[in-house]
Amino acid sequence: MSSPVIGRFAPSPTGPLHFGSLIAALGSWLQARRQGGAWFVRMEDLDKPREQPGAADAILRALEHFGLVWDGEVIYQSQRQELYLATLERLRRDGRLYLCRCSRAEIREQGLRLGLPEGVYSGRCRGQHHPFSADGALRLQVEDREVGFTDGVQGVYRQSLQNEVGDFVLRRRDGLIAYQLAVVVDDGAQGVSEVVRGSDLLDSTPRQIFLQQCLGLPTPLYRHLPVALAPNGQKLSKQNLAPPLPLDSDPRQALVRALRFLGQRPPAGIELASRDSLLATAIEHWRPGEIPTRMGIHEV
Ligand code: GLU
Repeated sequence: MSSPVIGRFAPSPTGPLHFGSLIAALGSWLQARRQGGAWFVRMEDLDKPREQPGAADAILRALEHFGLVWDGEVIYQSQRQELYLATLERLRRDGRLYLCRCSRAEIREQGLRLGLPEGVYSGRCRGQHHPFSADGALRLQVEDREVGFTDGVQGVYRQSLQNEVGDFVLRRRDGLIAYQLAVVVDDGAQGVSEVVRGSDLLDSTPRQIFLQQCLGLPTPLYRHLPVALAPNGQKLSKQNLAPPLPLDSDPRQALVRALRFLGQRPPAGIELASRDSLLATAIEHWRPGEIPTRMGIHEV
């Protein structure tokens, strides 16, 4: 018997749902539902300074408005600190972590001096054996090999973590658990078998796969969707103030727009059906092979 299909939508509650996040929600929902699978919603609310009060609820209300029904209870990462700390402890015992005391300015200066690509950590603290304490970041030691995978939309993607990322942070200097750790722990704990999300996270995936390997977790299938771009070419996001989708208007228009964005060709007149029969038709006609392979598409 094949294992169940489990998908998820994992928004960060930094603002209400906008068109860009509707695409990720709808794409992951359709991919799971088309296969008769489960679909979970997980609030990635670890970065409290970036959170907007009320956004988590607003996102859930928006999903309801669009008829994207989830399974089970919504998980909040802010309530799962112990699990992340236990995982850090395990990685520490396995000798994979070290404490890094470098400041952001020092990291930049080392990178410039050594001619590293922007954002790559030099590994300066790796051999220093700083005692594990709260006054630094915890970094995971990467290995000198390529980590690659075949993305269901973007094709083969490979990265040398050592040359293109460096040892990466799992607990930040300010004590916050990093996204890379929490996402891997939770995708594993929830049994997620297919991750469908924006292509802005494509280059995070090798880090996540490497961490799964360190923890003995299976690697899900990945599909990275094109992201909606604002006129200035940036990803439509809460940070660049993408307008929230209005919840007092007909959800069908935005759903059809999102389906078209995802390369789907829903039958003519689909927007005339009720929201739920529109969604049922969308499931029936879901063709992930039609999703455009571009990383971003201008949304006008
Ligand atoms: N929380 C991330 C975001 O809102 C998405 C994480 C993921 O899908 O892996 O951008």
